[in-house]
Amino acid sequence: MTLFGQNSYFYPVLVLSLSSIGTETAEFQIQGQSEELPELLELGCAGPLTAKVRSVPTVTSLLVEMAVRGSISLDCARCLDKLTGAFEVRLRILVERKEEQGLEWMEDGDQAIEEYVVRIGPDVMEIPLEHAVAEQIILNYNLHPLPSLDEKNKCLQCGRESVPVITPIPKDRVDPRWEKLQALKRPDSGGEKKK
Ligand SMILES: [Zn+2]
Repeated sequence: MTLFGQNSYFYPVLVLSLSSIGTETAEFQIQGQSEELPELLELGCAGPLTAKVRSVPTVTSLLVEMAVRGSISLDCARCLDKLTGAFEVRLRILVERKEEQGLEWMEDGDQAIEEYVVRIGPDVMEIPLEHAVAEQIILNYNLHPLPSLDEKNKCLQCGRESVPVITPIPKDRVDPRWEKLQALKRPDSGGEKKK
């Protein structure tokens, strides 16, 4: 028996269906599929997504807390190959009713906060979660991982050879071989110092 038992819903496009939310606190699970979600696919997500949801209705609104897990493949900045791992992001969504039709995400000045406010009209039955999940992945994960290298210049994450990094030589840096010649030119340096 899983924690969520039969309270699991499969919505490939990862939506919060308001018909699955009653008037009491509820816990359930939503399952989605990364391949159905272009924004997540673009970030490198692949395969199934699982959102563990807890919804708490209040008099005027509905607070929905969730943890969304899935798998993501990122380009290793060392070897330029794929690194695949699990991700988990947490979201809090405050759902407020409004009289007009349609769904409206309220702009929040502070993007780093994982709380969202969405206002829904009487016609709205589903709240899409894709964009909020994509935003939290971008905010919480380094999408350009740069793993450490071992002494043989191999990536510690994947073991592949690192792509050589070309570091530009600063223009004001004098080639050390010329430094000695320059020192000879200067009357007050190099050679013997008289006291
Ligand atoms: Zn690597």
